[in-house]
Amino acid sequence: MNDLIIIGAGPAGITASVYAARKRMNFLVITGDIGGQTILSSDIENYTGYQFITGVELAQRFKEHLEQFELELKEGERVTLVNKENDIVKVGTDKGEYQAKTVIIASGRIPRKLGVEGEDEFKNRGVTYCATCDAPLFSDMDVVVVGGGNSALDATLQLIKIAKKIYLVDVTDKLRADPIMVEKAKGSGKVVIYNSAKVKQISGDKLVQGIKIEREGKVEDLTVGGIFIEIGYVPTSEFIKDVAKNEIGEIIVNCRCETNISGIFAAGDVTDVPAKQIIVACGEGAKAALSAFDYISRLK
Ligand SMILES: Cc1cc2nc3c(=O)[nH]c(=O)nc-3n(C[C@H](O)[C@H](O)[C@H](O)COP(=O)(O)OP(=O)(O)OC[C@H]3O[C@@H](n4cnc5c(N)ncnc54)[C@H](O)[C@@H]3O)c2cc1C
Repeated sequence: MNDLIIIGAGPAGITASVYAARKRMNFLVITGDIGGQTILSSDIENYTGYQFITGVELAQRFKEHLEQFELELKEGERVTLVNKENDIVKVGTDKGEYQAKTVIIASGRIPRKLGVEGEDEFKNRGVTYCATCDAPLFSDMDVVVVGGGNSALDATLQLIKIAKKIYLVDVTDKLRADPIMVEKAKGSGKVVIYNSAKVKQISGDKLVQGIKIEREGKVEDLTVGGIFIEIGYVPTSEFIKDVAKNEIGEIIVNCRCETNISGIFAAGDVTDVPAKQIIVACGEGAKAALSAFDYISRLK
């Protein structure tokens, strides 16, 4: 029986692990990867102590910090079920089942999918969810960015330097991104904005070749080599049914990272805490570990 199981090793889970290790807790970390979304970030300029660091470098520093401690790490293992019965938290994965007195859910979030034909088929073959990671692959090509918020405009501004032409396809009639970003995009001379437009299908052969969109009742085919889907994120919380979540599936926590179920804590982007940032996730991870320690200290 572990004292604690930490799910996820992004900034929140890694920081929780560092705090749990320093408290000499007997714990296990189960995670898909080490670093989480930081691996996707190219330039980080807002993590205190580093005026500039790449996401990959920061993830490596996090990993090195983790390796200072003796802990049981299940990397590449997916949690599929968490539930609490008779004061024991059971964590089911694709490889087995584990038990603990308490758990910290730090499973972050993933990009939202469009849900159209061809999206899964051409994922990583022209369809991407990370402009920071993949924009350089589309040099001098015509591309589509789907979305109208800050993420979509951020992707568009990155692509202006790389791609030949960018179609910005948004389902609403007015872009919701910061006006300064919209102005920059419009001023580039490379961006064509399609408002009130819905993606119907993504097509291609080995790689993406085109996208079908519907606008004002008319269907149009755009010939493009890349499609950047930037329509928001979904919290990775589906494996736990019993905790209270908000309308978008974020786990509701209080200022101690406690959920509505005693002994189940959550931290970082998977929660309803605003500001999805590395430094915030780290702080929340630290708080969750200290709360879990406090909880265990009070158990009979
Ligand atoms: C492109 C991009 C750029 C960004 N740039 C910045 C920036 O410049 N500055 C900044 O502060 N923030 C930035 N962010 C946001 C920042 O990366 C996140 O806020 C932060 O990583 C959240 O940390 P987290 O630990 O809560 O979750 P995540 O980083 O999402 O980590 C979640 C962890 O949980 C694991 N996991 C998920 N589901 C399961 C499961 N079922 N079983 C086991 N393990 C699971 C994952 O493998 C991962 O290790 C950026 C994000 C992106 C996508």
